[in-house]
Amino acid sequence: MHRSDPHAVNADLHCHSTVSDGTLSPADIAKRAFDNGVELWALTDHDEIGGQSEAASAAKNLGLAYITGVEISVSWATETLHIVGLNFDPADAALEAGLHKTRSGRARRAEQMGEHLKKVGIEGAFEGALSYAGNPNLVSRTHFARFLVEKGICSDVHDVFSNYLVAGKPGYVEMQWATLAEAIEWISGAGGVAVLAHPGRYRLSALEADVMVEEFIKLGGRAVEVITGSHSASQYRKYTTLAQEFGLMASRGSDFHSLGESHTDLGALPPLPDALTPVWHNWL
Ligand code: AMP
Ligand code: MN
Ligand code: MN
Ligand code: MN
Repeated sequence: MHRSDPHAVNADLHCHSTVSDGTLSPADIAKRAFDNGVELWALTDHDEIGGQSEAASAAKNLGLAYITGVEISVSWATETLHIVGLNFDPADAALEAGLHKTRSGRARRAEQMGEHLKKVGIEGAFEGALSYAGNPNLVSRTHFARFLVEKGICSDVHDVFSNYLVAGKPGYVEMQWATLAEAIEWISGAGGVAVLAHPGRYRLSALEADVMVEEFIKLGGRAVEVITGSHSASQYRKYTTLAQEFGLMASRGSDFHSLGESHTDLGALPPLPDALTPVWHNWL
């Protein structure tokens, strides 16, 4: 695909399949993205690139431009950050080893989450979450959330994350994910670009957020998600300014997980503001 203005390209560079906590297979997401008018797509499962070859071949069959993607969980100070990696070599051994290490704590955490929930009278949560996830190394809070909704304990996934599974609420277990330096090194070492995902979601003071972004850049991070399903219109403006001030490229992605749960569909976001450089500007 060749376009003179990359802003006019409907790029969706953040979404999840059944390989992490989404409910559609990589091939079904490819189809949905294509039907929704997406022109450049990346599948970014949490800490896992096992869906990349299915995604790439499904996209190829549809005539949809594809770039590789992943979303890495990072512990930074007291917060969990998400770093999206784009356009890397999926055969890179250090990246795969790093992702394997990052997700390997999920099974143990899920057992502990199940025990915590048992203490507040919720039985069978570990087994229930596992039945949604399939693979114990990929069990996420989203799978527990689906179980709590299935059991009628919460009305929807949003309700779950207000009352369970978050710091100070039942079912929360602290995790030690990758470091920011590791995540950026794995992505950059595999030839990819590290993108700070949905910055509006982190509970950091303005000062802490500046320190975090400066560290991200110093370590080799090069882009920030400005237009994401996690941001409000005022956050689009706030992070446009941030990208300009820090000289970061900008990315755009729905963070689509599933039909009922995600409020933003694939390809349905507004375009990036003209003032920003799309992270995909030289990938078309
Ligand atoms: P984990 O990586 O297991 O800690 O799970 C994190 C995932 O939980 C995220 O990727 C989202 O899919 C989901 N999640 C976290 N917070 C919320 C929220 N407030 N509403 C809906 N989903 C959420
Ligand atoms: Mn998720
Ligand atoms: Mn995320
Ligand atoms: Mn995501």
